[in-house]
Amino acid sequence: MPEMPAIRLVNVNKWYGTFQVLHDVSLTVERGSRVVICGPSGSGKSTLIRCINRLETHQRGDIIVNRVELTDQLSKIDRVRSEVGMVFQHFNLFPHLTVLDNCTLAQRWVRKRSRKEADEIAMAFLERVRIPEKAQRYPGELSGGQQQRVAIARALCMNPSIMLFDEPTSALDPEMVKEVLDTMVSLAEDGMTMVCVTHEMGFARQVANEVVFMDGGKVIERNTPEAIFSAPSKERTKRFLSNLL
Ligand code: ADP
Ligand code: MG
Repeated sequence: MPEMPAIRLVNVNKWYGTFQVLHDVSLTVERGSRVVICGPSGSGKSTLIRCINRLETHQRGDIIVNRVELTDQLSKIDRVRSEVGMVFQHFNLFPHLTVLDNCTLAQRWVRKRSRKEADEIAMAFLERVRIPEKAQRYPGELSGGQQQRVAIARALCMNPSIMLFDEPTSALDPEMVKEVLDTMVSLAEDGMTMVCVTHEMGFARQVANEVVFMDGGKVIERNTPEAIFSAPSKERTKRFLSNLL
């Protein structure tokens, strides 16, 4: 029997009031694969990715994550959220908590881990993102690149089977982009299932199994990075990609 995909969206439609933001979006993410979503500002990329862990709700179509169909049932939403890590453009760390406490809060309250166990797990992931020496610092004392690596470590502490990234490097100064992308590449190499909204096409080339181009709330084109970068089939994709270079 073929394995169920990690994420499956079938004809998803969403409205903000009367404004339709997603039009029949379908997407399949196989376990262990990486999908990069790109497209102009306002095309619905954040909305789409936020629907996957139900930070936003869709009105029509199906979203199935790790075999769980997303409906209004709270227990299902909690289950999906606990298996899906999310990294945002603006890090969203708790400013009044140390780096270590940022990484242990959900572990203790959601996973019910002891402080000792949560601390050990947090330190292991802070090592993994190469920033253990900042454990007792506050987010405001860190550079943007360091904060984003903490945000990745914080998500990993919950042992997610899927990681969602929403433009994780677009708020960073150029010299900090690489340290965050390197962390993401290493996650990809370890086989993490990832959906990344990003315009970092070098990253897409290196790790993506599929690149999805969105515009106006629709999937315009999807293909392997090789194919979409060398010969986009739609004029809109071509124009968008040529502006990135
Ligand atoms: P992207 O991430 O591709 O820039 P978004 O998903 O953030 O796109 O937004 C898609 C469209 O939906 C935009 O036109 C935006 O203004 C609109 N939008 C986003 N969030 C909301 C909201 N909470 N309420 C109303 N409109 C929204
Ligand atoms: Mg966005």
